[in-house]
Amino acid sequence: MLNSVMKAESRQLVQLDAQKSGAGATTDSDSGAKPLFGLDREALKERMGELGEPGWRGKQLAEALYRQHVEGLNEITTLGKTLRGKLVEGGWKVGRPAIRQVFKSIDGTERYLVECGRGDTQTKETVETVWMPEGDDGELGDGSDSTRPEVAGKTWNRATICVSSQVGCAVNCQFCLTAKLGLQRNLTAGEIAGQVVSVLARQAVEVGKERVNLVFMGMGEPFLNYDNFIAAVRLLVREVGLSPQRMTVSTSGIVPGIERFAEEPAEVRPKLAISLNAPNNLVRQELMPINRKWNIESVMDAVRRIKLRTRERVTFEYVLLGGVTDQPEHARQVARLLRRAGLPVKVNLIAWNPGPGIAYSIPKPGAVDAFSAILAGEGVPVYLRRPRGRDIYAACGQLKRTVEENGK
Ligand code: SAH
Ligand code: SF4
Repeated sequence: MLNSVMKAESRQLVQLDAQKSGAGATTDSDSGAKPLFGLDREALKERMGELGEPGWRGKQLAEALYRQHVEGLNEITTLGKTLRGKLVEGGWKVGRPAIRQVFKSIDGTERYLVECGRGDTQTKETVETVWMPEGDDGELGDGSDSTRPEVAGKTWNRATICVSSQVGCAVNCQFCLTAKLGLQRNLTAGEIAGQVVSVLARQAVEVGKERVNLVFMGMGEPFLNYDNFIAAVRLLVREVGLSPQRMTVSTSGIVPGIERFAEEPAEVRPKLAISLNAPNNLVRQELMPINRKWNIESVMDAVRRIKLRTRERVTFEYVLLGGVTDQPEHARQVARLLRRAGLPVKVNLIAWNPGPGIAYSIPKPGAVDAFSAILAGEGVPVYLRRPRGRDIYAACGQLKRTVEENGK
């Protein structure tokens, strides 16, 4: 059932405006210049100081980059022409990652290839970012409200943005398309936060008024790029104005990363999701080789160090692979395992999205519902992720692969 929906929708996925977005007259063109986007208020003040400008200019710059979502220096009218000229002479540009290609599904989901380019080189790579109006239901069960004040002209009540943290991934989970790309590089904090701001700008989101969730569940393993990931969260909270309680970071179970995460102050700590994906260590280490380094118990020990907020739950993501992880016995094992963990949990079930060159199968009809019913019967809060967003062009990583391979 889930899969017939997926297939029907993916045929509808059309490319809208390749190469158009971000190529407008307002974007800075000098690709060799240094990006201001990604610097926090303090760093911006310092840069302004170096140009002989007072500190409050840094605040103006931060406002323009992170609240007004400007794309080019010429849009920052508060700075005046002379100062904008000084910035250009000093080798600076806005440098926010640009949406290069847009793919839109009939259900309103938009998938983007976002072009990232580091300031220090001319390298340009794309990562996938997804806009899901109404989310994919994976955000439910977190105690947050589901309504927002009416905003004229908007067709959605809440939305979720799915963000990438690396170009490719080194973790090598056997069912994942992104793994096939290998790790190409870490994204910088500006490139991670920039995906979000580019989508907020495109969708004309009024931050603070409208309910937007962020999930760090795109390409890459955020906890293997921890410093940049958490710096991006700080920017998104302090400068862009998003709430960490509406952010969820997903990890394959990188224990040192979870331990660092546990030390973060609540005001910049997102919620946590663990990609469990298997009912026991034996199956998990076959699917996720990282389990040989950090097994389920060591991941749970690390997760227990986090001081959870009132009503906060830790999400366990579970990809259902036909015959391999979707059997009734597996559901009972998952319930036992989570009970033993002694944590407030919820489970997000998702049917595996098939991808080329990966020899697993999708669950048989009825298997997803049966699995979900067993967990619910054992008292585990369980949510079925709707097949959309990163799920429609099949799995995350497939968009980039498909587009770039066809382009060769
Ligand atoms: N690297 C992090 C975050 C990105 S992957 C992690 O692994 O948690 C985000 C989620 O997508 C993970 O839960 C992963 O198990 C899931 N996923 C990967 N490939 C998938 C596929 N083909 N079908 C369904 N879910 C998949
Ligand atoms: Fe990396 Fe996550 Fe894919 Fe595993 S599931 S290879 S950790 S992106």
